[in-house]
Amino acid sequence: MPGRRRPRQRPDPPPTGLLDWTDSRHWSQQARPCRYCGAPTNLRDSARHPAHKTCAEAALQQQLREQAEAYENERLTIEGNH
Ligand SMILES: [Zn+2]
Repeated sequence: MPGRRRPRQRPDPPPTGLLDWTDSRHWSQQARPCRYCGAPTNLRDSARHPAHKTCAEAALQQQLREQAEAYENERLTIEGNH
């Protein structure tokens, strides 16, 4: 029997999107209004706030876009100041 261990394979990213919402931490028995759209949801985001997966991911995208824009604006401001 070879003593060599197989390297652990890294799991593929979930096909449903960036976030793994299959984890039970993202699920509550009690439906609460989504923090983004107000419709009731059993899902919770990473901060345990009620949020739909799609709403949270849209917000995440928006956040990333705003950060990228803020970075770009700052860079342009700095370049324009010399
Ligand atoms: Zn929602």
